[in-house]
Parts: sequence; structure tokens; C-alpha cells
Amino acid sequence: MDFAWAPEDARMKSDAAAFGRERLAFDVGALDRDGTFNHEGWRRAAEFGVLGLSLPRRYGGAERPLLTTVQAMEGLGLGCTDNGLWFALGAHLWACAWPILLVGTEEQKERYLPSLARGVRVGSHAMTEPEAGSDVAALRTTATRRGAGYVLQGRKIFVTNGPVADLTVVFATVDPARGREGLTAFLVERGQPGLHLERTVSKMGLRTASMGELRLDGCEVPVSQRLGEEGAGLPLFAQLMEYERGLILAPALGVMERILERCVRHARERRQFERRIGDFQAVSTKLVEMRLRLETARGLLYRFAWLKQQGRSAMLEASLVKLHVSEAWVQTCLDAMQVHGGQGYLTETGLEREARDALGSRIFSGTSEIQRDLVARMMGL
Ligand SMILES: Cc1cc2nc3c(=O)[nH]c(=O)nc-3n(C[C@H](O)[C@H](O)[C@H](O)COP(=O)(O)OP(=O)(O)OC[C@H]3O[C@@H](n4cnc5c(N)ncnc54)[C@H](O)[C@@H]3O)c2cc1C
Repeated sequence: MDFAWAPEDARMKSDAAAFGRERLAFDVGALDRDGTFNHEGWRRAAEFGVLGLSLPRRYGGAERPLLTTVQAMEGLGLGCTDNGLWFALGAHLWACAWPILLVGTEEQKERYLPSLARGVRVGSHAMTEPEAGSDVAALRTTATRRGAGYVLQGRKIFVTNGPVADLTVVFATVDPARGREGLTAFLVERGQPGLHLERTVSKMGLRTASMGELRLDGCEVPVSQRLGEEGAGLPLFAQLMEYERGLILAPALGVMERILERCVRHARERRQFERRIGDFQAVSTKLVEMRLRLETARGLLYRFAWLKQQGRSAMLEASLVKLHVSEAWVQTCLDAMQVHGGQGYLTETGLEREARDALGSRIFSGTSEIQRDLVARMMGL
């Protein structure tokens, strides 16, 4: 493994962190309270180029290695406290743009990738349904062949970016009797007749990443909007989940670093019993554990990106990254609150928001239980 960055990429993390501090310094407390999608933050982050960094040049990207995108995302997490913003960017990139890059036709890539790379189109991904969460193969949305296209019928929930999306990757079955072999993906554009935003949902954390429920009611899509082959939806989902699980939490590395720095500062400054609280081992141990979690999380995630850069399969590693980084992020937030005492519990210090944001990561892109189950199966159990 070699994590040496090309000279032009070496400063990516610090540049992204500086950009985050200067240009993404929003009143996140207010955005969080209102549950508002951060349109201006999205526009600026897209302008910074993070969305197209690793996409090919011919589709409007900068064609830098995946590890460079990881650095940029990590820097954003370090410099910007709007975790919902980077989560929205990640969902767009890994669950919408990336699958088009992986299996899209040349026409689909030319049509969608340049605008997704620039962030002028917002992407989303709709797999989950009321009866199909962890068990994605149980989905009920149908795609019935009619003439030169398909008619989509069904309901999708928990769609990140759903309320603001211009393009959604929708999974449906072309034949429920075919079970897993019937699953197929489609590209559905905003405004396509039959696609309805049923409602915008409010959630505990990551509140600046908007989430919606979609209803597909006689939604006609031409064959040219099918993403991948008919019946190839499940392998595509596995492929896109490999990238999503391995990379969507790259910004959380920066978040953990930011929180750790804050805790170290606090432990040095705050005095009780005429000593710095950092002198108490019960406090310093928490900070050491934070550092250990951060370093192991970073090592796992970088290694995953490196493996993908080498064109290697990394399904098991993707699940390990997702499991470890999410759990590490949650524990870091809980410990940070504890180290700050009563201050950590106040809304105005922002630490409780960080904890609310972190908790969702144990659920999206497959729960921690599902990651453990996948790893166990890949270990031959
Ligand atoms: C913030 C956020 C963003 C999301 N964004 C999207 C999105 O953009 N697009 C999308 O399609 N979906 C999205 N989701 C949905 C997410 O993928 C699902 O919530 C997740 O896969 C779990 O499904 P479920 O909620 O139906 O829980 P369930 O599958 O009902 O699980 C309930 C509980 O049972 C456990 N469980 C289930 N099966 C097993 C098993 N085999 N072994 C052990 N334990 C098991 C789970 O771990 C969990 O604890 C998002 C969710 C969140 C929270």
C-alpha cells in the first residue's frame, strides 16, 4: 500500500479544510433547527469541485484518484460543521453519479455525469421501501414493460436528497416472480410524469440533508433510462454499496479529528480540583481512545480507497469501514459530550448535534448489524 499523493493532490485535505472554514461557515445551529437543505453550501462545495474530483475528464471530472476525493471529503468534515451537507454530497456522488459511471450507457454518462460532477443536478437513490429495508430483495415497486419503456409503480422511503433531487436511481422489479433476478435500476428525472414527492420527512440528525418519500404512480420511463441490464439490479446495488459503504464516511474522519482537537483543548483549559481535567486519567483515556479510533478508522478507509484504485474487489473491507467508522464516530461524539460535562449537553455548543448526526451512520447504507452479518458470511460463517 502506498498512500503517497501526487504533488498536485498533496494539499487537498488542508485546502478543503480551509475552504470549509472560510466558505462553509454557516449558522449550522439554525439550519439544523429548521431542517433546511443547505442550497448555498451545496453550490459552494460543488464549485470547489469535490463532486467531480474522481470522475473522468470526458464527463466533466478532474480524474484524480479516489484517495484524493477521500482527502477532499475528510478536509470538508474537518473544516465545516454542517455534517448534513457532506452527507448530501456523498449520497449524490456514491449512490447516483457513481453507479452511472459503473454501468451506465455512453449516452447516459454523457447526459448526466457532467451536470452531476458540477452539482447543478442533485442526485439521489431510492431503494428502501416500507416493507424492504435491510432485506432489499423484498422490494415491491414494479417496473412493467410497456411498448418502448417501463411503467414504475410503488413507494420509496428514506430517500436522501429526495425533496431536492433532479435525478433518482430507482430500484424496482420487472417480475416479482423472478425474485432477486427481477431487480432492475432506472434513472428517473424530476418532473417525469408519475413521480411524486409524497412528503419531506424530519429526522433526528443530519437535518440539513433533506429526506423524502417518493410515490411512483404510472411513471413511464423509456428503455434508455434503464441503468444496467434488466434483472441486473442486485449486482449493481452490491457494487454501488461497496463504494458507498467504503467512502461515504470519509468526511467523518475529519469530523472526528475536529472533535478530538476540541476535546484536547478543553481538557487542557478546564480546571477542577485545582488541576486541568486532562490530568485525570479518566478523561485523558477517553482522548487516547478517540485518537486510536480515528487512526484505525482512517487506516481502514484509506486502505479501502487504495484497493479500489488498484481495481480490486473490496466488499469485506467496505463493510469493515462502514461498521468501524460509524461506531467510532458515534463513540467519539458521546465521549466528547462527557468530557465537556454540562457544556456538552447544551444545544449552543453543538456537541449534541454532532452526536445526533453520528447516530444515523449506524443505520444508513446498511445497519451495523447487517455489516457484521455480511463480514461473517464473507469469512465463511
Ligand atoms: C439518515 C438515513 C439516510 C438514508 N438514506 C437512504 C437513501 O438515500 N436511499 C435509500 O434507499 N435508503 C436510505 N436509508 C434507509 C436505510 O438504508 C435503511 O433504514 C436501512 O437499510 C435499514 O432498513 P430499515 O430501516 O427498514 O430497518 P430494518 O431492516 O427493519 O431493521 C430493523 C432492525 O433489525 C435489524 N436487522 C434486520 N435484519 C437483520 C439481520 N438479517 N440480522 C441482524 N439484524 C437485522 C437491523 O439491524 C435493525 O436494527 C437511509 C436511512 C437513514 C437513517
